[in-house]
Amino acid sequence: MTAFSEFPPALPALSHPRSDLDPLDWSDMRAIGHRMLDDVFNDLENLRDQPVWQPMPDTVRSAWHAKLPQAPTELAIVYKAYCRDIAPYATGNRHPRFMGWVHGGGSVVGMLAEMLAGGLNANLGGRDHAPIACEQQVIRWAAEMLGFPDDASGLLVTGTSMANLMAVLVARTDALGEGIRTGGLADAALTAYAAAGVHGCVARALDIAGIGSDALRLIACGADGGMDLATLRTTIAADRAHGLTPFLVVGTAGSVDTGAIDDLAGLADCCAEQEVWFHVDAAYGAIAMLSDAKKPLLTGIERSDSVAFDFHKWAQVPYDAGCLVVRCAASHRAAFERPANYLKRETRGLAAGSPWPCDFGPDLSRGFRALKVWMTLSTYGTDRLGQIVDRTCALAVYLAERIAREPLLACVAPVHLNIVCFRVRGGDDTLHATIAADLQEGGIAAPSTTRIEGRVVLRAAIVNHRTREDDIDALIDGVIAFAALHRQR
Ligand SMILES: *Cc1c(COP(=O)(O)O)cnc(C)c1O
Repeated sequence: MTAFSEFPPALPALSHPRSDLDPLDWSDMRAIGHRMLDDVFNDLENLRDQPVWQPMPDTVRSAWHAKLPQAPTELAIVYKAYCRDIAPYATGNRHPRFMGWVHGGGSVVGMLAEMLAGGLNANLGGRDHAPIACEQQVIRWAAEMLGFPDDASGLLVTGTSMANLMAVLVARTDALGEGIRTGGLADAALTAYAAAGVHGCVARALDIAGIGSDALRLIACGADGGMDLATLRTTIAADRAHGLTPFLVVGTAGSVDTGAIDDLAGLADCCAEQEVWFHVDAAYGAIAMLSDAKKPLLTGIERSDSVAFDFHKWAQVPYDAGCLVVRCAASHRAAFERPANYLKRETRGLAAGSPWPCDFGPDLSRGFRALKVWMTLSTYGTDRLGQIVDRTCALAVYLAERIAREPLLACVAPVHLNIVCFRVRGGDDTLHATIAADLQEGGIAAPSTTRIEGRVVLRAAIVNHRTREDDIDALIDGVIAFAALHRQR
């Protein structure tokens, strides 16, 4: 009782008139906010007239070595610095002629959703509130898209790299029991299997999980670009014979190099018979489920135990928006849940609504990624997103046909979905890397490179919803022009 009365009766006056961070004059703030929004709209409306990408000049690079800003600065001045030093020198993936790596183009709706989410500042780690209901809706939609049961669980995360890591942890706990979460792996010798062209983040996931990337067996691929199932079976059998514990097969739906898709139904059979966890890395390929024409290529994904994919690639949701979906919610939860006094659950009030998202992944505090996904899917509808899948795949075929007609160029891999790998005949590794950089620095187009059968080649991934045939023509014309230029030297 006494402790409270010992406090001084009056608090000392604060020296600053306002201690909070809200504006003194909301009308000034409104004006600058509206100006920012208009600038973004103008920028997006005129994307096509801008270079795809431009390197940062040295003056801009050096602007990023300022001291910690102790004193306040007018927002208008800070915004000016953004317009000068950041906006013109971003990745360029919004642009229709960005074709490097696998980057989504984003959308106006996604941008607006980001703004609204920022305004709400919700924390989706847990507790009972509508943003979590929104995320759960998005997860149910993801499950529906994949042909998973309605009670599958899932989480929005940064990207497929994180989702794959979480899937490895779920599969590990499922194979060895929850005891390994406290006791560690000890001398459990787990092994995992994936196609030779699997994304590097899967090996890294095994590394981070403490299993070690050497535990990943890379299975040779057949003519269709997918894992050879006979080799998979003999490799698993050989590992078992050596006393190892096969626990995970990672199928790929849309490989990063060429867009190849494993025989997912065959993998589902194999995993059922071998009793190992069947995970699918469908980073961008999952969205092909929204296309009636492409969906059959992914048959079998609905039988997997878990799927990792990105909304920020083919679904055009702004970065970042990855997703993990797990068929068995109990297995998912068993890998992450950890009770804590300060996270106690109740049946009413804000602490209700258990289980919480923090019971299904490594993050406690989490942003409202779900809003931009929900708003994108709701506004455009899955039919339109499926049409983007069809159109970008058709553009990849158009690109391959143009390459076939150019005597100087040759495709070096089959076109499975929306990725085309090609080379300049007679050109060496350096020439291909040089042409990619020339196109990027010229602001003309942004392909990337990869290595196919030991040689560096050009690679175009048509992911952006804004890309048209004339953008493909610009890429080809640019490659031919730079190839000719370097030949003359
Ligand atoms: C992009 C990609 C990843 C990595 O996803 P992030 O969202 O960048 O973490 C993994 N696998 C494949 C096949 C990919 O295309």
